[in-house]
Amino acid sequence: MDQLAKQRKEEQNRELKERLMQLKKERNAIILAHYYQRDEIQEVADFRGDSFLLAQKAAQTDADVIVFCGVHFMGESAKILAPDKTVLIPDERAGCPMADMVNAEGLLDLKRKHPKAKVVTYINSSAEVKAVTDICCTSSNAVKVVNSLDADEIIFAPDKNLGRYVQQFTDKKMILWEGYCNTHDLLTLKDVEEMKAKYPNAQFVAHPECRPEVAAAADFVGSTTAILKYCRETDCDEFIIGTEDGTGYQLRKDSPHKKFYFASKYLVCPNMKVNNLKKVVRALETMQPQIYVPPVIADKARQALERMLQVQ
Ligand code: SF4
Repeated sequence: MDQLAKQRKEEQNRELKERLMQLKKERNAIILAHYYQRDEIQEVADFRGDSFLLAQKAAQTDADVIVFCGVHFMGESAKILAPDKTVLIPDERAGCPMADMVNAEGLLDLKRKHPKAKVVTYINSSAEVKAVTDICCTSSNAVKVVNSLDADEIIFAPDKNLGRYVQQFTDKKMILWEGYCNTHDLLTLKDVEEMKAKYPNAQFVAHPECRPEVAAAADFVGSTTAILKYCRETDCDEFIIGTEDGTGYQLRKDSPHKKFYFASKYLVCPNMKVNNLKKVVRALETMQPQIYVPPVIADKARQALERMLQVQ
């Protein structure tokens, strides 16, 4: 971007931010932003977080309007946990390909085949899928959730990589759905080895949505929040990051003196990036697009989400 274009963009962003502050007050709204959002959105968010923290914030807020900057299933979870609030998403095309890999019918079929198993569904799933789920989980609590259940067999959907990761910390038999995150699953061991050769002093941290061989090569494996904490608190100055590139915003904010190298240039979720500041402002101006979940589905899905929030 040349200097003039950069100045124009900054000016535009300043105006958008002012308009946003005014609209937030008028509507009594809060902005929740996932760590994978563009920097310009994370800058204006009331809360930045992973899907677990943002679900908690949605359930607790006094605001009338929640602008959920993330992908569709996150907005749905917010609406399910806060049914009286208006939940807006800046762009309704922001979906999650992994969430689309599982449907309620398929999950019910699997349940029929394994009648003794309990169903644990990753929060990255539709409301319909959550409605046929015993309990949800996120990457930050998946192991705890699985081990909290009174069952020897667990049907785990949709992320097979996260399921395999959990299998290392439980004696329960994991029956895995064949889903995966398009972004994290692209990272290969070869990519990681090349980065390690280039930055021999850096520690490699990975998200459990990465392939098992990639996670096995990591110095630390954890959810986005756990990765942020690890990089902040560990006595090391350089890290190779094995998760989505939007986390760079918080990593640099937490530790401006440390160096972060993303393990691959493909660690970008295009769905997360369709949201931008302009769309956040427009959503609050027009109060569209709104998330709607049919109450009969929301009531069942809520049980699975609330059970998850109770697991400590
Ligand atoms: S990063 Fe992966 S899991 Fe997250 S929204 Fe994008 S595709 Fe879905």
